[in-house]
Amino acid sequence: MSITVRAPAKINLHLGVGPGRPDGYHELATVYQAIGLYDDVTATEAPEWSVTVAGSGDLDVSDVPLDDHNIVIRAGRAIVDHHGIDRSALISIAKSIPVAGGLAGGSADAAAALVALDRLWDLETSDADLLAIAGRLGSDVPFALLGGTAYGTGRGELVEPVSDNGQWWWVVVPNGAGLSTAAVYGEYDRLRLGETLRAPEGLFGALADAWPEGLAGELHNDLEPASLELRPELAHTKRDILECGAYAALLSGSGPTWLGLAGDADHARDIAADLTGKYPVVLCAPGPVAGAHVVTYA
Ligand code: ATP
Repeated sequence: MSITVRAPAKINLHLGVGPGRPDGYHELATVYQAIGLYDDVTATEAPEWSVTVAGSGDLDVSDVPLDDHNIVIRAGRAIVDHHGIDRSALISIAKSIPVAGGLAGGSADAAAALVALDRLWDLETSDADLLAIAGRLGSDVPFALLGGTAYGTGRGELVEPVSDNGQWWWVVVPNGAGLSTAAVYGEYDRLRLGETLRAPEGLFGALADAWPEGLAGELHNDLEPASLELRPELAHTKRDILECGAYAALLSGSGPTWLGLAGDADHARDIAADLTGKYPVVLCAPGPVAGAHVVTYA
């Protein structure tokens, strides 16, 4: 028997990054949104742990590890340890989320693997336990379980749903060369940008109002200056997105993916069409969408 679970990419509508903590993480005040770009993760019982990865279209998956470093194997071992059972699985990842793009594709895979294994073995893990296991795997993993739009605090792992009346449309412009999250945080510290933790302020009202131009004025990413310091050429993509008529251009997490906020699906497609000649991959995605969910029992 196999179970396939689909999990979404995340973007940060607000990413406030505070000072470094003694444990090496930064204190965050972030608003996540799950968008319609997904990885599918299939779990099948097997005599030992293993992982396969396939990229959709031209997606480069060469940086995704195929050994115990893959976060889905860590997720598998974590749920097995939690229940004190001795089982293993083959986990196959069908990737559509760009790798190392600031879209938390690895975290989506981990969340999907937890749900798939829980269902495959009828473990009936409580939501609270699943979120706790997810939080130990990575700061963005609990949100990938939850989906929708949510406020994240702590190092991002403490998530609570946020009221969001919008049906937002995003133009997603990935970059061929990934950017290391750790390097961006290192640069952020070097530039001493994190002395105070910036809260989202007007963003919650804009989400409730469901008005794209209103949301545009509330989007914010503290990491943008650090990412641009490391990769100054990324500023060109921001400018191109705005020149094509997006209401705002937002760096996704630690980058290098950029997001353009559109007014509706047609507007998103128009912006994407204008950008397509210049960028090899331009996608349109709605948000918010559901968190990790079962799509196939076979
Ligand atoms: P982060 O989640 O660290 O903010 P990101 O969202 O920019 O990073 P991811 O696609 O999650 O990017 O990948 C970050 C790194 O994690 C990759 O370069 C890869 O080496 C490693 N990795 C481990 N497991 C996976 C996985 N299942 N999918 C993608 N990357 C993985």
